[in-house]
Amino acid sequence: MGALKMIQRVETPHKVVAMTFDDGPNPIYTLKVLDLFREVSGKATFFMIGRHMVEYPEIVEAVVTQGHEIGNHTYSHAKLTFLNESDCLQEIQQTDKIITNLTGMKSTVFRPPYLDYNHGVVLLVKRLGYRMIGALNTDALDWEQPGVDYIIEKTRSHISSGSILLFHDGFGDRSQTIEAVKILISELCLQGYQLVTVSDLLRLAEEEKK
Ligand SMILES: [Zn+2]
Repeated sequence: MGALKMIQRVETPHKVVAMTFDDGPNPIYTLKVLDLFREVSGKATFFMIGRHMVEYPEIVEAVVTQGHEIGNHTYSHAKLTFLNESDCLQEIQQTDKIITNLTGMKSTVFRPPYLDYNHGVVLLVKRLGYRMIGALNTDALDWEQPGVDYIIEKTRSHISSGSILLFHDGFGDRSQTIEAVKILISELCLQGYQLVTVSDLLRLAEEEKK
């Protein structure tokens, strides 16, 4: 079931990396992430929670206007394997509709909260037109605020062409994440990496196969 697993990286000869930000939109930290990416003309992917999107539609708009991608991260950040099929469907579909309503675009990338999923979730996500997106640097634990240096060091070891990296711009104090991402972005740019959205990364990898 290779294609049904979460995608954590892609094969590509291009020096591209996809940074992703979960749990927003957030009135403080999402905007800080946007500033960092604007400085280097990079693009990011934001896996947003539906009920936060409803609360901060103007931030959703800013993210889209600046050319970033929005991914589905459920409506209430539920642990999907605890839900029955119809509740699970509701969590994903409700946010799918919110994204379409606010952005005029269909989202095609999904990340399950807590990276928690089972076969049923996989099938449902696929049926709704999504790819399941994981990340390589889950050991960086940025959501636990382990220290800026810790986040940077753990993340560094996962950086290569085609990497997908996980960070958080929502829930709680994200200042360590912002500081770490700021430093990582400047390192990546110095090394000649381009920061792209997850969909761009997937597209690059698929073009390579042709
Ligand atoms: Zn999350």
